Amino acid sequence: MSTGTVANAFMDIFFPPHCPLCAEAVNSHTLELCDKCAEAFNSSRIKGPLCLLCGIPFKSGGSENRTCGSCLKKSPSFTRARSLYLFDNEVREAVHALKYSWGTMLGPFFGSRMARTVTELELSPDLIVPVPLHRKKITSRGFNQSVLLARVMAGALSVKLEISNLRRVRNTPSQVGLKGRERSVNVAGAFIVRHADAFKGKDVVLVDDVFTTGATVGECALVLKRAGARVTVITLARAVN
Ligand SMILES: [Zn+2]
Ligand SMILES: [Zn+2]
Repeated sequence: MSTGTVANAFMDIFFPPHCPLCAEAVNSHTLELCDKCAEAFNSSRIKGPLCLLCGIPFKSGGSENRTCGSCLKKSPSFTRARSLYLFDNEVREAVHALKYSWGTMLGPFFGSRMARTVTELELSPDLIVPVPLHRKKITSRGFNQSVLLARVMAGALSVKLEISNLRRVRNTPSQVGLKGRERSVNVAGAFIVRHADAFKGKDVVLVDDVFTTGATVGECALVLKRAGARVTVITLARAVN
């Protein structure tokens, strides 16, 4: 028996593998979901047709990807945005768990799937940049879930993780309950780039947990764009009305 096999057997006995979402027992340590969770997540997976720019899925009107009305009216500050899942049911619960339970397997689980999306989009970013939290919020919560996801993605893709050059300088009130326009006003001027040179001419993948109206990622992308970067947004989930 090789050392690796012994180690695996040891792991299986003392740390039996479980589903990273519901902790149900599963067969292997490969971060796979149990059947029930896999089914729920597959049904929330965003498939086409969707907006070529902001990635919003269309409920009707043909099978082709196209630009949505909102992006036609005003081009977003990012090149494109894509999300893995609709922000509903089990996905909503998982995002909540990710936010408040550092050290669970959810970060590695979702981060590796987001990295796979970057590869599927045939992107070759220079930098992975998480949406920053204000330091007061980090103090109260303990960590930034977007950093957690971005760190896993950077590792999986062998791309540099940049976490200190985009800063949140204003601790904005919660976006919950605000509509699109109010959200944009709420986050306007909340972010700065410290050293613009580091972003100049770079392809950046901007990472967040949830794309709600796009106000937060849009504002981040705007300051990154002003610094000379091209920005693709990857979020775990997307809220759709
Ligand atoms: Zn499960
Ligand atoms: Zn759009």
